[in-house]
Amino acid sequence: MMAMPEQTDSMFPPLNDAQIARLGAFGEKRQAQPGEIIFDLGDANHGVFVILEGSLEIIGVSDTEETVLRVIGQGTFTGEVNQLSGRRSLVRCRAREATSLLEIGRSNLRRILQTDDTLGEIFLRAFVVRRLFLIDHSVGDAILIGSSNSSDTFRLRAFLGRNGHPHTYVDVDRDPDVQAVLDQFEIHLTDIPVLICSGKLVLRNPTNAEAAECFGLNAGIDENSVYDLIVVGAGPSGLAAAVYGASEGLNVLVVESTAPGGQAGSSSRIENYLGFPMGISGQELANRAFVQAEKFGAHIAIARSARALKSIKPPYTIELDDGKSLHSRSIIVASGAQYRKLNLANLAQYEGSGVYYGATQVEAQLCSNEEVVIVGGGNSAGQAAMFLSAHAKHVHLLVRGPGLSETMSQYLISRIEACREITLRPWTEVVALEGEAHLERVHWRNGQTGETDVQGIQHLFLMTGACPNTSWLSGCLAMDSKLFVKTGPDLGKEWTSTRPPFMLETSLPGVFAVGDIRAGSVKRVASAVGEGSMAVQFVHRVLAEETPALRAST
Ligand SMILES: Cc1cc2nc3c(=O)[nH]c(=O)nc-3n(C[C@H](O)[C@H](O)[C@H](O)COP(=O)(O)OP(=O)(O)OC[C@H]3O[C@@H](n4cnc5c(N)ncnc54)[C@H](O)[C@@H]3O)c2cc1C
Repeated sequence: MMAMPEQTDSMFPPLNDAQIARLGAFGEKRQAQPGEIIFDLGDANHGVFVILEGSLEIIGVSDTEETVLRVIGQGTFTGEVNQLSGRRSLVRCRAREATSLLEIGRSNLRRILQTDDTLGEIFLRAFVVRRLFLIDHSVGDAILIGSSNSSDTFRLRAFLGRNGHPHTYVDVDRDPDVQAVLDQFEIHLTDIPVLICSGKLVLRNPTNAEAAECFGLNAGIDENSVYDLIVVGAGPSGLAAAVYGASEGLNVLVVESTAPGGQAGSSSRIENYLGFPMGISGQELANRAFVQAEKFGAHIAIARSARALKSIKPPYTIELDDGKSLHSRSIIVASGAQYRKLNLANLAQYEGSGVYYGATQVEAQLCSNEEVVIVGGGNSAGQAAMFLSAHAKHVHLLVRGPGLSETMSQYLISRIEACREITLRPWTEVVALEGEAHLERVHWRNGQTGETDVQGIQHLFLMTGACPNTSWLSGCLAMDSKLFVKTGPDLGKEWTSTRPPFMLETSLPGVFAVGDIRAGSVKRVASAVGEGSMAVQFVHRVLAEETPALRAST
């Protein structure tokens, strides 16, 4: 058995007597014998345990050994972010001696978070700090075995990373011990990427949905309910709608095809979002919003995509890509936009193995000390250039036009001009890509001189804007010529109901569109968050309009 280094008390803050007394009304007392397992790795739906007397061991479990992460004593409590959603535990917890405990179930825990400011803050802060610790120390139930030349490995690493699921990554190209792990599970090198869940279940090149299923990321989601509100997409606009909807008492389900955060989640640093003067990574902003939504009781389904909107009046049916259906009295469409691609024949071959659409820590690790190319002249390209210049050997920033002044904020232009690790290449376009399993060479051409150049560069970041994610809505909602969803006054004759449409309401009454997917929206985090929050006010009005007959039928 191994021991972990000392951790700070922000992770296990002791509660005082008065606070424990307040919690008494929400829990049930129980006794544990020395050595008794209180909950195990993979257990779900148990409560949080407050130690009234005695002590507990919090233990990380790998296939071969236990690691005592911490011994906690009187006044402290168990639990982490998974406790909010009823997902499976990532650690084992054992009584070290005869111990007296107060168990608080999930629904009471949520009540405390919502009604007791002081205790709510203590619990939430501890849960978040513990999750960060588990991620940093790869404590949990997942081992991913992959290769840096494999796009599916990149996909799964990004999926686990963006969902904040702690995992150990073993790279077959770099780690000599990998064969030993593979032998243990009778896996051939040709099967990678491989995901080992809970020390046993082995998935060979799983889809994101299979990985989510394996880790129980969607545990506790009721597919048979008629929700008050289904939000499609967990980018900034969808998460804002979830926080406001759930905090105002609506029964809310969010459906997200990959991971919370959307486009913003792929940004290394957002500096213009109000309240974060030092900037915040898109991933951190998404994690905070995700915890906030769960705190208020919103349900968030991960790796599930909406495939169609079926009915034309409430309750609406959303068909998912796995063939299942969900029902709701109102819908907020927040499925945003996806990255525009370059018109290069073999582009798809290198996506995830040399071609990337976001610049986060995952990508930065892959191109550490190597040259990179970024295509694009907008703020996202500028942020990526600044972020990657701290990791890569050199950054080539390619723009089709004469420069950045038309498309990028001045604060970023000034930083780029002052950064020796970045070379701006105006009038330049990527014209070809080459390589075997991984991107090896990038060809670019100067549109003014006609000169072409080939560089042995293995990392290309495409930051060339986005197109709306509306294919799943085709034929159901009125859209503009670029397939963004029309709302409110823009609908004109496409609105057929007797009352005027609410702002942000689409051509279907009770279905709203917010954020980047909405025609005429400002493509910014703040405006997406604002629209997601506002739409909830209109949802209340629509739900209040419902006929009693409809309410009774659901
Ligand atoms: C790299 C980068 C950096 C940026 N930096 C900034 C910045 O510094 N400041 C700023 O203000 N803005 C910035 N932006 C813009 C900002 O991120 C977007 O305006 C904002 O994310 C839009 O939010 P949204 O919720 O409307 O959509 P999105 O962020 O696009 O989120 C949509 C979500 O819906 C999901 N989805 C799509 N289709 C489906 C489906 N069928 N079923 C279920 N889920 C689905 C997607 O997976 C995604 O998670 C940046 C964008 C990028 C790409």
